Amino acid sequence: MVEILKPDICVIGGGSGGLSVAAAAAAFGVPVVLIEKHKMGGDCLNTGCVPSKALLASAKRAHMMQNSKPFGVGALDIDVDFKIAHDHVQRVIAAIAPVDSAERFTGLGVRMIKGHARFKDRRTVTVGDAYEIRARRFVIASGSAPALPQIPGIDEGPYLTNDTVFDLTERPNRLIVIGAGPIGLEMAQAFRRLGSAVTVLEAATPLAKDDPECAAIVLDQLERDGVVVRSGVKIVRIEHASGSVSVTFEGTSGEETIEGRHLLVATGRKPTVDGLDLEAAGIKYDRSGIVVNKRLKTSNRRVYAIGDVAAGQPQFTHAANYHAGVVIRNALFRLPVKVNKDLIPWVTYTEPELAQTGLTEAEARARKIKLRILRWPYHDNDRAQTERETHGHIKVITARKGKILGATIVGAQAGELIAMWTLAIAQGLNIRAMTGVVLPYPTLSEIGKRAAIDYFTPGLTSPWVRRIIMWLRIFG
Ligand SMILES: Cc1cc2nc3c(=O)[nH]c(=O)nc-3n(C[C@H](O)[C@H](O)[C@H](O)COP(=O)(O)OP(=O)(O)OC[C@H]3O[C@@H](n4cnc5c(N)ncnc54)[C@H](O)[C@@H]3O)c2cc1C
Repeated sequence: MVEILKPDICVIGGGSGGLSVAAAAAAFGVPVVLIEKHKMGGDCLNTGCVPSKALLASAKRAHMMQNSKPFGVGALDIDVDFKIAHDHVQRVIAAIAPVDSAERFTGLGVRMIKGHARFKDRRTVTVGDAYEIRARRFVIASGSAPALPQIPGIDEGPYLTNDTVFDLTERPNRLIVIGAGPIGLEMAQAFRRLGSAVTVLEAATPLAKDDPECAAIVLDQLERDGVVVRSGVKIVRIEHASGSVSVTFEGTSGEETIEGRHLLVATGRKPTVDGLDLEAAGIKYDRSGIVVNKRLKTSNRRVYAIGDVAAGQPQFTHAANYHAGVVIRNALFRLPVKVNKDLIPWVTYTEPELAQTGLTEAEARARKIKLRILRWPYHDNDRAQTERETHGHIKVITARKGKILGATIVGAQAGELIAMWTLAIAQGLNIRAMTGVVLPYPTLSEIGKRAAIDYFTPGLTSPWVRRIIMWLRIFG
């Protein structure tokens, strides 16, 4: 018999976005149903952010041990036990899983349903023959899946994606990665540092969404690590044989074939819209996902879409969380809050890390804004020297009058350092605010203050101001 439920909010998908909506709605005492067909926690916990960062952490240890001699710490021949690295990744997932579990959400007051949700009509979602949900509002947070490029032969044999790569218990000795975006390059560095031979093939430009000057520093480190990155290549075919895979591509010097043992496909994501029967609910979508307006409302006024499945939105966990806040304020409190994509930072967790917030230089120039660009190198930072982490720099983009528009940091802990710049942009701060802040010495965050001080240096005429700048440079 069908159970009919009439909550205020019905959420489809128990990943980063869906869980945030459900938790917030439950906290406000709003009746909420959450439907998840697979694993609670979605991509981020099970096959995305968490396992990738855990594997990178193993790789980082391996790299540190091999490079400790300059610190006076004897470098040993390192011994990588890949099975233990795999177990570490799985233990990290298991440690975080209770926070995203059905039990916890039931405890918060969320009605949990395990199963596949699909729309029956404009105001009804069903889960098999067991449930029919007629909610006041629906939130689709069904996420995304690996997009498979159309290359002849690719699916005629085994290949890895983020859905399967973290299940490997043996190190892939010769790994070919297709795709040099953040996921492809993070995995390339992780496996290389754990001992795999890695070649990355990219049709266009590696890290194409990032500032090219800063991305080049990441690529330089990957090359030093021994990762081979071939960009601007057109893969023409893939041939699988027992225990090997060969990839033939056209590069600058004609057709080439490389052979590996494993193939990892990291060529972007496709939104999960299949099986939702969106047509039945009058919800428009295209290849990039469910069409939403700035309040994340779909073409059906009762339905919102958030996270990776929402077309044109950045695909990050913190973006999905931010979307959840926008939907809660619109759906529950009728506040006309809109998404602002400029407020969403992102980080590639290679070493060095590459972090971006606000506008890149290219984006700011495309908007025809008159800019000032401020830089400060890690090399001129005392903490960076003590840690021998002198590779990288900060680049701050301001408008002519000093309003902070964006910041890119490439270097150690860039993902942590970007936080204060994200706050500065969200608050509409002027670069002057960054020169006035007192930061603990010696910290890497001082690179930002130093870059900010540079705003006032060129073209100075007043000796008084020059003296202040000098003072700040010495003591600031
Ligand atoms: C390798 C990798 C590394 C990443 N690293 C980072 C990172 O470091 N930082 C970061 O911010 N982001 C990272 N991301 C991106 C991040 O994982 C996603 O942006 C985030 O998980 C999106 O959340 P979501 O809620 O939209 O979707 P998901 O987390 O994918 O959740 C969607 C859920 O919906 C369920 N579902 C789908 N259809 C239905 C249905 N019909 N019925 C019921 N349930 C359904 C799915 O089973 C899934 O559990 C990474 C991604 C990958 C692949």
